[in-house]
Amino acid sequence: MVLDANWFTEVCEEGGSAFSLKIRRKLHEEQTPYQRIEIYETETFGNLMVIDGFIMLSSRDNFLYHEMMSHPALFTHPAPRRVVIIGGGDCGTLREVLRHPEIEHVLQVEIDERVTRLAEQYFPELCEANGDPRAEFFFGDGIRWMAEAEPGSVDVIIVDSTDPIGPAKGLFTEDFYRNCHRALGEAGVVVQQSESPLYHLDILLPMHRAMRAAGFSETRSLHFPQPVYPSGWWTATMGLKGCTTDGWRRADAAGKTFPTRYYSAETHAAALAQPPFFLQALEGS
Ligand code: SAM
Repeated sequence: MVLDANWFTEVCEEGGSAFSLKIRRKLHEEQTPYQRIEIYETETFGNLMVIDGFIMLSSRDNFLYHEMMSHPALFTHPAPRRVVIIGGGDCGTLREVLRHPEIEHVLQVEIDERVTRLAEQYFPELCEANGDPRAEFFFGDGIRWMAEAEPGSVDVIIVDSTDPIGPAKGLFTEDFYRNCHRALGEAGVVVQQSESPLYHLDILLPMHRAMRAAGFSETRSLHFPQPVYPSGWWTATMGLKGCTTDGWRRADAAGKTFPTRYYSAETHAAALAQPPFFLQALEGS
């Protein structure tokens, strides 16, 4: 929403709050068959992508989200080789996954090709690994793709989607998680962006329940800051099959050979710590 010509504002009704960024100009706007995409140039956060009025990412702080959506899950799986990203059209998560030398293949299943084309234009740094021979792109519905996935064919599934509205609604259901569970091998991890623990327990708690009902033996939310999202406090929730969150490859994370700006073995361990109110809410749900 543009309340004033110089500011972009996202109103969060459920939080009774709003977040604004000072903008220099609108770079692009289009309605695709799936959603309305806007791109702004901001004063202090670089470029900003907005879908259906909701901030997706900014140049300045997307590293927090993309690193926490990828590295904890990859260092939790005992030996990840095959990764599927559902959504993630801006390609930032893909770039992080490809930093892991042991990854052999990453398939990105994004419903809206325009998101990727606009990311190539306005967020080229996120797309710098798109030419990696291990990366494959499929533009189609992730819900359908997962329903048809070959059993046992994936090690790590990363659900980097929009909020549970529009085409992403079905990505937050037990049916979808059951299909993820089947697509994963003997050891497998699914990780999904899961909104704010302060504002969205109504999404987070059912997600834990649905993942467990779908067969995941353990679920755990990772907590991390995300300034451009409502409340500034965000989560990604992992579902585990044949491995455990506490069994993560800490020594490998500490000795990783690639650069990160937020992720480290220490921030991984910190993100696994569960605030008491959150644990109580989970236990009571
Ligand atoms: N980090 C962002 C956030 O949490 O606000 C998400 C970024 S990424 C741009 C989200 C992507 O999910 C969008 O490009 C959207 O097109 C895609 N998406 C939504 N529903 C989908 C579906 N059913 N299958 C595949 N991709 C989907």
